[in-house]
Amino acid sequence: MGLKRNIQAQSTIREQCRELVFSDSQCREIMKRLLNDCNRGLAKQTHKDAIVKCFVTYVQDLPNGTEKGKFLALDLGGTNFRVLLIELSENHFEMRSKIFAIPQHIMLGSGEQLFDHIADCMAKFMKEEKVVNETLPLGFTFSFPLTQLGLTKGHLERWTKGFNCSGVVGNDVVKLLEDAIARRGDIKIDITAILNDTTGTLMSCAWKNNNCRVGLIVGTGSNACYVEKQKNCELFDDIDNGSGQVLINTEWGAFGDDGSLDFVRSDYDREVDRLSINPGKQIHEKMISGMYMGELVRLALERFTKEGLLFGGKGSELLYTRGRFYTKYVSEIESDPPGTYANCKEVLEELHIKHATEQDFVNVRYVCECISRRAAHLVSCGVATLLNKMDDPHVTVGIDGSVYRYHPHFHNLMMEKIGELVKPNIRFDLMLSEDGSGRGAALVAAVACRKRR
Ligand code: BGC
Ligand code: MG
Repeated sequence: MGLKRNIQAQSTIREQCRELVFSDSQCREIMKRLLNDCNRGLAKQTHKDAIVKCFVTYVQDLPNGTEKGKFLALDLGGTNFRVLLIELSENHFEMRSKIFAIPQHIMLGSGEQLFDHIADCMAKFMKEEKVVNETLPLGFTFSFPLTQLGLTKGHLERWTKGFNCSGVVGNDVVKLLEDAIARRGDIKIDITAILNDTTGTLMSCAWKNNNCRVGLIVGTGSNACYVEKQKNCELFDDIDNGSGQVLINTEWGAFGDDGSLDFVRSDYDREVDRLSINPGKQIHEKMISGMYMGELVRLALERFTKEGLLFGGKGSELLYTRGRFYTKYVSEIESDPPGTYANCKEVLEELHIKHATEQDFVNVRYVCECISRRAAHLVSCGVATLLNKMDDPHVTVGIDGSVYRYHPHFHNLMMEKIGELVKPNIRFDLMLSEDGSGRGAALVAAVACRKRR
């Protein structure tokens, strides 16, 4: 390919990618709409029809580092399904855990099958860990939207990510798990709390850092929780918890489900949504999270190839196969040091593209950067909205999830963008949470036990 054609292709790609770059005014419009939606979720009158639900979690006390004891935890709804055994002692914890697969036919099967499978994995783990004869408190991290009626009662609002099990929506998930355990009869457990992964993430950071008042996930899915003043939360007005604060699970993944993000969506977003198992749902999440990021990049690469702007117009079957451009590729490609393309080359070879030129590498990386930066900027709009709403002088945001953890620039992109969008009087930091879904679940269970005794 001649130099001139190279430059032409590069500038056409950059032009076409401009829709993926949000201006300052677009960011501020997104924030305004998200704030409005959160307020609708919090208010009694509008909660039922609200898009961003802002569920009350019933987690009221943050841990203080003195929690003690032996706990079980379940973590369902992230990249892996895990069962954990956690021992907490003063400022210290030990953890053993095991990852189990959830086969696709169970993710899309009946609820009974799913909970039987979970109970089965727990029984196996408890036998291996020789705790079958103990009745341990269990914290259940269930990373889907729940209407909670208490710390141990939560009705599933909708499935998200890759799950769609029948007979669960509208039902109490704790009860479904208890029933499955009762059906087996060989293990005993005491479900002390059900919680969202954002809650676990916040708890696990708050254990050591008492400024932590936001929990964020940028992983398979995306969501945030934050500490709200009780007086701003009408849904909670009949319960007096003394602290004047409630922990709110925003479920911001659903933001945009009424079209409020259409002004910044692209054809790639519409295509990802159209072919998903939940079209029209979780629109915000689909622009951000790891379950979709690779596919967004792939769709753009496919298009540019077919337009003759990449790889001399010649793609490969794999490049044109849905789901084959993994989100981890985005992190790998962007981890190449400036001016070098070793990972990029390797990824393309994995996709059977062996004829890529240096200019193709430059363009592929650019597309990855646009999609991941957009995700980081959207998340930043969300975090800044919550920080401005809370209006505390100094807040730590606890974060977990594969995208935040493994993408080489996500943290820096967020620091920069939130800094631009947050009120000048607010200081913030972003802290990687060490295993919120596991340790956080044990902490919620521990705090709950402390109260019960
Ligand atoms: C779920 C949230 C969860 C998030 C991150 C979303 O799809 O609705 O409950 O916190 O994913 O796992
Ligand atoms: Mg997790």
